[in-house]
Amino acid sequence: MEIRNKLNDLAYNLKWSWTPSTAELFSHIDSENWQKTKHNPVLLLKKISDERLRMLLADKSFVDRVNQEHDSLQRYLEANNTWFSENYGARDFSVAYFSAEFGLVECLPIYSGGLGVLAGDHLKSASDLGIPLVGVGLLYKNGYFFQKIDENGWQQEEYPDINYLHTPLTLVTDMSGNRVIGEVDVADAVVKFQIWKARVGRVDLYLLDTNLEENQAPYRDITDKLYGGDSEKRIQQEIVLGIGGIRALRMLGLYPQVYHMNEGHSAFLVLERMREMIQDMGKSFEEALETVRSTNVFTTHTPVAAGHDYFSIDLIERYLQSYINKLGISFEQLLALGRKRPEDENELFCMTVLALKSSSKNNGVSKLHGRVSQEMWRSLWPELPVEDVPIGYVTNGVHAPTWLSSSLRDILSDSEGNIDWQKILEVDDELLWRLHKELKRQLIELVNSRSKIGKLGNLTEDVLTIGFARRFATYKRATLLFSDEEKLAAILNNPQHPVQILFSGKAHPRDNGGKELIQKIVQLSKREPFLGKIAFIEDYDLEIARHLVRGCDVWLNNPVRPMEASGTSGMKASMNGVLNASTLDGWWAEAWESSNKGSDGFGWAIGDGKVYESPEVQNEVESRAIYELLEASIIPLFYDRDEKGIPRKWVKMMKEAISGLGPKFTTDRMLKEYVEGFYMVDRTDDKILV
Ligand SMILES: *Cc1c(COP(=O)(O)O)cnc(C)c1O
Repeated sequence: MEIRNKLNDLAYNLKWSWTPSTAELFSHIDSENWQKTKHNPVLLLKKISDERLRMLLADKSFVDRVNQEHDSLQRYLEANNTWFSENYGARDFSVAYFSAEFGLVECLPIYSGGLGVLAGDHLKSASDLGIPLVGVGLLYKNGYFFQKIDENGWQQEEYPDINYLHTPLTLVTDMSGNRVIGEVDVADAVVKFQIWKARVGRVDLYLLDTNLEENQAPYRDITDKLYGGDSEKRIQQEIVLGIGGIRALRMLGLYPQVYHMNEGHSAFLVLERMREMIQDMGKSFEEALETVRSTNVFTTHTPVAAGHDYFSIDLIERYLQSYINKLGISFEQLLALGRKRPEDENELFCMTVLALKSSSKNNGVSKLHGRVSQEMWRSLWPELPVEDVPIGYVTNGVHAPTWLSSSLRDILSDSEGNIDWQKILEVDDELLWRLHKELKRQLIELVNSRSKIGKLGNLTEDVLTIGFARRFATYKRATLLFSDEEKLAAILNNPQHPVQILFSGKAHPRDNGGKELIQKIVQLSKREPFLGKIAFIEDYDLEIARHLVRGCDVWLNNPVRPMEASGTSGMKASMNGVLNASTLDGWWAEAWESSNKGSDGFGWAIGDGKVYESPEVQNEVESRAIYELLEASIIPLFYDRDEKGIPRKWVKMMKEAISGLGPKFTTDRMLKEYVEGFYMVDRTDDKILV
C-alpha cells in the first residue's frame, strides 16, 4: 500500500487522538499546521506542499514510522482478544448510543461540555473493550461557538462555517457512490438529511446533517448550531436526531438490540421504534411500548431544570400530530408518554419523562445523583417508596488513554498497553515531580501561546497553580473564590508562597448569569491586586482541558451540592496526580465516602457536604472553607520542600490520587458496568436478547 494511503487511513481513524505516537507523526509532518488546524490531520495532509511531501517520502525513517503506526492500527482493529469477546464471545449483538453532542477531538467542535466529552469517551472505551456499539448524533454546520472575550470582559460567540470535507469525517454513500439520503417528517415538511461517519477506533459514529440544497431554507438550518436555537428549533433537531437517527441506522442495514439514550434529547427514537413495530410488524401500542421499553437504556445527567427539555403541547401537536396519526397512536397516548400526570392539561411535554417511561433501565451518573434523580422523578411511580424508584446509577468515568499524560501512561503501562495504576507507588518521587513540572511547563507554554486575558507576571513552574475550568453554569460558582477579595489577594500575593489561578470556560449563549461570572473574573484579572495572579484562557476546548488537567497542581471544583451530577474534569486531574479540592458533590462525594474520611490521602473536601437553606450562607461557609484549606493545608504542603526541592508529602498525595482514584473513575470501568448491568441483561420476557 502506498504511504500516502496509509497516512490517510491513519488520519481518518480518530484512534490517533489516543495514540500519542501517531499524533507525533502528524506533528512531525508540519508542526505549525498541526497546531493551526486544531490537530486536524486531514486538513494537515491537504495543506502539505509537494516539496515537503517528496522530502518526507524520501526519508526512510519517516516511511518506517508510517508503516509502524499503520501496522499497529491494523492490529488494533483486527484484534480478537478484546474484553468483550473474551467475556461474551462472538454474537449477533450491538448497542446504538444516541447523543446530541460528542466531544472526541478538538477539530470537530460538536460538543459543549461534560455531556459531550463523556459521550466521546464512551465511544473510545467501547472501542478499546471491543464492545459492539454504534454512535448516532448530529453534525452541526457551525458547531458550538468559538469564544471571544471583548474589551468589557463580555463573552462574544463566533460561529464559523466548518468545512467538514476537510475533517476526519466521510460522507456515507451507497454502492454506486451516491450519498445516502434519509427523510423525516418535520411538521408538514419532509426534511432530507445526509449522513457523515467518523471512525473511532473500532466504533462507528454516524452524524445526521440537514444542510442540503434539496431542503427549504429554514429546514436546511435545523442542524446549524448545537444548543443554538429556541424551543422550536430544538424540537426540530430532536426529531432529526431521534426519528431520523433510527431511520439512518436502518438505511445502513443496522438493527441494534439495545438503544442507549445519553440524555433525553434523543427520546423521540421511541416513537420511530414503535412505528416500526406497529406499522411494519402489526403489534399493538402496548406490545410495541413493552418491547421498546425492555431494550431501551436511559441515562439522565443533571438535576438542573434547564437541562431537561420541555415542549409546549402546541409545539408537540404541530410537529408530531400527523406523524403519530399515521401509526395509529392517539394524541392522548403520545402526551401521556411525556407527562408525569397524563391527565394534567397544563403539564408540558418532557423529553426526560418520555425517556424514563420508555426505558426499563434508567440511571443517574453518580451514587448521589442516582438518589437525587429518584427523588426528582418519584411522582412517575407514585405507588413506590422513593428508594424503589427504578433509577439506578453508573458513575461516570474518563477515557484514560485520552486524558492521562503520555509520560505517565508510559510508566504505568505493561507491554500490552494495559495500565497498572499501582505501579505509581514504586516510582521515584524525584522522577514523578520532574515529570509533573515538565507538564506544568507545557501548560504554561500553551497559556502563553493562547489568547488570554490577564498576563501572568512570573508564571513559572515554581508557583502553586490552581486550575478552574468548566462550563460557566451558575451552580458551579466560578467566582466563589472571590467572596472575600482582600483575603484572596493576600493569599495570592504572599511573596514567600505565591499562588496563581488559571480560569477557562464558556457560558451558554443565552446564559447572562454565566457571562457575568466570566466578566467579573476577566475584569479582576486586569487590575491590582490580581494583576499577574489570575488569567482567563479564551475558548475552552479539549486541548486546553488536556493541558490544564495535567499541568496544574490543584484542581478546584465548588458546585452547589447536589447540582453537579458527576463532574469529570476532576477525574482527569486526579489520574494525572493533580490534587482535587472540591465540595462533596457528584463523583467527589463518592470518592471521599469510599476513602478514610478525614484523611488527607488524595485531595481535599471543601465543607462537609451540608446543604444550607440560604445560598448566601452556603457561599459564606464554603468560601471560608476554601481559604482555610489553602492557608492551613494546601499552600504549606506545596512549599514544604526537602533539600532537593521535592515536596515529599505532596508527591505522596499525588501517588495516592493516581493509584486510588485512577482505576475507579475510568470509562473502561463505566462501560463494563453498562455492559454487565444494562446492555447484556437477560431479557427473556420478550426473547429479544440472550
Ligand atoms: C472534561 C471536560 C468538561 C467537563 O468538566 P466538568 O468538571 O465535569 O464540568 C467540560 N469541557 C471540556 C472541554 C472537558 O474536557
